[in-house]
Amino acid sequence: MRILITGAAGFLGSHLSDRLISEGHEVIGLDNFVTGSRENIAHLMGHERFTFYKHDVSNYIFVPGKINAVLHFASPASPNPKSPSGYFNLPIQTMKAGALGTHNSLGVAKANQARFLLASTSEIYGDPLVHPQTEDYAGNVDPVGSRAVYDEAKRFAESLTMAYYRQHGVDTRIVRIFNTYGPRMDLEDGRALPNFLKQALLGQPLTVFGDGQQTRSFCYVDDLVDGIVRLLWSDEHLPVNIGNPVEMSVLQFAEAINAVTGNKAGVTFHANERSERDPQQRQPEITRARTILGWEPKVSLEEGLLRTVPYFKEKLGLA
Ligand code: NAD
Ligand code: UDP
Repeated sequence: MRILITGAAGFLGSHLSDRLISEGHEVIGLDNFVTGSRENIAHLMGHERFTFYKHDVSNYIFVPGKINAVLHFASPASPNPKSPSGYFNLPIQTMKAGALGTHNSLGVAKANQARFLLASTSEIYGDPLVHPQTEDYAGNVDPVGSRAVYDEAKRFAESLTMAYYRQHGVDTRIVRIFNTYGPRMDLEDGRALPNFLKQALLGQPLTVFGDGQQTRSFCYVDDLVDGIVRLLWSDEHLPVNIGNPVEMSVLQFAEAINAVTGNKAGVTFHANERSERDPQQRQPEITRARTILGWEPKVSLEEGLLRTVPYFKEKLGLA
């Protein structure tokens, strides 16, 4: 198969590219490097089944030759308002990647009669009032809140994807990705894992925002990629949650990272650092993925952290 991946130079896009190339497919990557990096795909440059184009998906996409599948992953993804690569600081680019980028990517899929897979997010549930989050929960999102640039762009992207499925018969998939971590995360993008792991390896206290009682459920990247690939080759058109259902407080997550790294500096609480409408609880309900895809995560938090540490050590010059 010839597979187009937008956002291929990002954390998830680069791992997906690796996985699909390892299965014998040809991957065409698009990225404008707004939050991704050339280093994430440096090992693929020159591979006979990898081609890369620097391109902004908000503009018309032209790729020569027949495409069999389009995976739309291009979008800023960090919610940290202090990070230059966070979507709070890229509000219009984020909305354009979710709206125009999804429209252009769907257009490529339609023209090629290709499969299409949208990278959606648990953020479409907003600050959820239903817990854990099932796919039929419609969410709690403020359309004019500062997180809305991401949440509403992804909600629009899901609606547009279903419109292309229903009106044009495009063979679409929607994955709702929950918090995922692993090597190639941007150490500076301000998400919890990069902040905490970097701080722990440097022997600093971990910056827990608020009282740390807000919850998340963290999935190791290999598990996530496995779920996405299964969804891609399935016949499911409705959204599917892919994430690890093991829920913990952000404080517990920080303590787990200190334990794995042997960091003795503890944590510090930053009462006012939580972003506006930071979800209080988040846990994927994965019955749909279990029954339709036969998928569930296999990598424990400890194992996933241990697999991630070497990358962070190398980036920090500690290897
Ligand atoms: P990332 O920032 O590492 O990757 C996103 C990539 O998209 C980057 O390489 C960036 O340069 C590229 N990009 C952004 N806008 C673009 C544009 N207009 N044109 C071309 N390229 C553009 O983030 P990630 O964590 O790998 O996220 C990838 C996708 O998965 C995103 O769509 C995100 O919303 C979704 N997602 C990720 C998570 C997670 O936990 N990592 C959770 C939910 C959803
Ligand atoms: N967080 C934190 N300290 C940090 C970075 C993040 O306590 O240094 C918190 C953040 O407020 C949120 C949770 O960790 O409650 C997860 O944040 P992340 O940015 O990873 O992504 P989100 O799940 O909010 O999309």
